This record gives sequence, C-alpha cells and structure tokens, in this order.
Amino acid sequence: MNTDAQSMPALKRELARKAAALGFGLFGVTSPQPPATADKFRKWLNDGGHGDMAWMERDIERRLDPTLVLPGARSIICLGLNYFQPRPERRGEIATYALGRDYHKLFNSRLRQFCEVLRSHGGENRPYADTGPLLEKPIAARAGLGWQGKHTNLVNEKFGNWLFLGTVLTTLPLEPDLPAKERCGSCTRCIDACPTRAIKGPYSLDARLCISYLTIEHRGAIPVELRPLIGSHLYGCDDCIAVCPWNRHAAITLEERFATRPLPDPVEILAWSEADFDRELAGMAMRRTKLQGLKRNACIVLGNTGTTADIPALSAASGDEDAVVAESAAWAVAQIEMRTLSA
Ligand code: SF4
Repeated sequence: MNTDAQSMPALKRELARKAAALGFGLFGVTSPQPPATADKFRKWLNDGGHGDMAWMERDIERRLDPTLVLPGARSIICLGLNYFQPRPERRGEIATYALGRDYHKLFNSRLRQFCEVLRSHGGENRPYADTGPLLEKPIAARAGLGWQGKHTNLVNEKFGNWLFLGTVLTTLPLEPDLPAKERCGSCTRCIDACPTRAIKGPYSLDARLCISYLTIEHRGAIPVELRPLIGSHLYGCDDCIAVCPWNRHAAITLEERFATRPLPDPVEILAWSEADFDRELAGMAMRRTKLQGLKRNACIVLGNTGTTADIPALSAASGDEDAVVAESAAWAVAQIEMRTLSA
C-alpha cells in the first residue's frame, strides 16, 4: 500500500484492507477534480496524436471531468495490479500484459467485490478497469500510486512499470492521498529506447508512431517506412517501459491467469482460419487485433526477421482475400529476398 493503513480513518482503512485482500498491490484516493493534464490532453487530440483511435474524442468533456461521469462523485479510488513476468524469447514479441489471459475479466470481478464495501456504506459507485471514460494515469498519479514517466505511463517505486490500473468513482467522501514524487530525474532511457521515436520528448507521445498503436489499434496497412522499425514486435511493444530503471524491484505477478500461454510462431498464424484464431486466442487480449490485423503483423515480423524458409507461407498469404494482408505478405517476401541477395 502507498499509505499507512493504521493512520487512515476507519472507512478508508477498511477499503485499503479489502484492496490488499483482493490482490491489489496499490491503493490510493484522490478528489474527482479534472486532472491537471486535461488541457494538454485536449491539445494532443487536436494535434491528432491519438491517430485513428476516434473513441478517445467521444464524450471528451466527460473524459476530462469525472463529476460528469458520476454526478455527486466525491472521491476517486485508484487501484494497481502487478502483471510483471519475464518476456519469453520468441520470434514475434508480445507485450507482457498480453502474454496470458485477458486481465479485464479478473479485474472487473475484483472491482465488483471491492465495491461491495462502498455499497455497504451507502456509496453510489462507478468502477472501471482501464476502459472507463477517465484519464486514469494522471488520476492515479494524483492518488499517489506513482508518477507519469517521460514515456507517459505510470511508474511506481516498488512495482516499476508493470501495473494494470483501475478506478472507482464514488459518492462517498474519502481523504485524498498525496501525489507521488516524480522520480525520472535526468534519465531519458525510455525516450532513447523507442524504435520508432514515438516519444517526441519528455511526456510527449505520438501514438501514430507507437508500435503498440500500430500493431493493435491501427486498422489498415502499416506505413512502409515504419515497418522495418517494428522489428519482431507481433503484438504491442514494451520497449520503453522495459528499460526503465525503476523496474529493478519488480516481482513476478502472483496472478496465475497472467502466466504466459503457448503462442504460435508468426508463420503459423498466416495459415489460421477464423476458427483457429478463436480457439488459439480464446480469452486473450490479443484478440483485439482481429485475425486480419494479426496476420498483417505476422507478415511485418517475417519481413524483418524471416528467412527463405518462410517464403512459401508468405507467398500463399500474398493471395489472401484481405488486401492489407496480401500486400503486407508481398512486402515481406521482397524484404527476405533482398536480404538473401545482399548476404
Ligand atoms: S525510463 Fe527513465 S525517463 Fe523513462 S519513465 Fe523510467 S525513469 Fe522516467
């Protein structure tokens, strides 16, 4: 916990204990005021930094003002859940948070149990497991869970960068915690590590260049000039958070659901049907790309890392009925052939 449970008023102490009993490593409280970064977020949207994630523009006033999400809200409770585990060495890297089963089900179930305490005290509540209309990172920072690093993600002294964040808006008044101290100092490792230079400077991320965005959220073809920079990233990217020195104290998650599941090589994915996709990725966050998006990504990975042994599968994929997959596969074949010729 980031606060001393013994020194809290009774209700907050009860909530802190419940959070710990449910496996949340971090618990903090803040006011329902708009985050201080609201204007910056609005400018980021106006500049198009969110790419084609149009959902971010929807209900923008609500997103910036929690009291519009829950009229009468008097507090926001922030919760953090550790998901760290070592990333397996494999062709086609997968972001750490997506290696196991999708966290939303577990997180939502725990949030519901957590809200039982609030309900028993007469609170009206809105729990969100990172899918709510809230700017959860600056809100979590204000609640003392950590600080927003120069890559814009939340960093905590104990857990490093490997945290799922949840928020609960409540009409109950709770004493706010103090924000955590910002501890990036002169470090720029995350900025330097980004393969596509998506972190334009401290606290400034251009999602249109971010590999997580390109491989997960972006629909359609990945710009040709960015493809070589994607390297072996099949789904998401941890590069900026993995290099953070504050990960040094991170312990492996105790959540069995987050343990790495067996995952196929990119060349196998090229042959998947929709039924294969549904079976192999049942209950996993990786489903978000849909089959065509994952095949597109597999082509990019093979174009960057593949050998002539991968060409038959890629040639077959170049006849895919999805134009983006077909074009990406043809690009990958050309990349491998170029590498082979110049070797
Ligand atoms: S890598 Fe360095 S600059 Fe980036 S979040 Fe971590 S401490 Fe801050």
